[in-house]
Amino acid sequence: MDIDAALRELVVFGQNVYRPTVLPMDYGGSTVCQVSLTLADGRCLFHSSFELPSLPVPEEQLLADTVGLLRRDLAALDTCPRCDHLDAPATKAYRERQGLAQPSWAVSACLCGQRCRYDGDANLFLPARELFLSGQAIPVCPECAGGLPTPRPPCEIQDGRVMDCHGADRTAAFLSGAKRCVSAVQLFGISHALLKERSPSCGTNCIYDGSFSGKRIGGSGIFAAMLRRSGVRLESEETASFESP
Ligand code: SF4
Repeated sequence: MDIDAALRELVVFGQNVYRPTVLPMDYGGSTVCQVSLTLADGRCLFHSSFELPSLPVPEEQLLADTVGLLRRDLAALDTCPRCDHLDAPATKAYRERQGLAQPSWAVSACLCGQRCRYDGDANLFLPARELFLSGQAIPVCPECAGGLPTPRPPCEIQDGRVMDCHGADRTAAFLSGAKRCVSAVQLFGISHALLKERSPSCGTNCIYDGSFSGKRIGGSGIFAAMLRRSGVRLESEETASFESP
């Protein structure tokens, strides 16, 4: 049984045909598999990633890991049906074909209920989810977009570098994911963002101090700082007023 056949047994989305993609990526000596399900009309329905223990990976293990991951995450599809930053041009084209208004907000995907947080959990914040479900917002997760696995070691900013709790420098992945998400935001002409406070990516006014002791300091995450420089107005789940722009 191949991966595609296994996925077809798992999920049927109306008349949609989906295209699973498994992309092995080198990640500091281990391998991360990125798994996407893309509908025939181009929408990216689902994206997740997980870390494989060793190389080479037996095909059977890859299949079992992929199916296990999807079984877990597809159960939450009612709250996180897509992760638009991964295929922003296709999502934009889809919205135009459907006559949908273009979104004016970007929101941290974990606030919408997507389990993309470092520990594999979400930070569901109902107003963010409502912005997303009503079509006014696209969800973005710059750490996923940078190819980091979920779950992953927690990271904090130390002297301008992003370090994980084991001392590995993850700055390159954070910068790459942030740039990818800023590009998506600019493609949609988005003017406002609602982001998760204290994250080393999404924190808008406050982050952890780099000591992994829970101490907070004033400052912004990598993605939030980039967005602010590009002229996007930032809110967090602690500051948002949610007036329409
Ligand atoms: S990078 Fe942002 S969206 Fe992704 S899990 Fe962290 S806070 Fe949430």
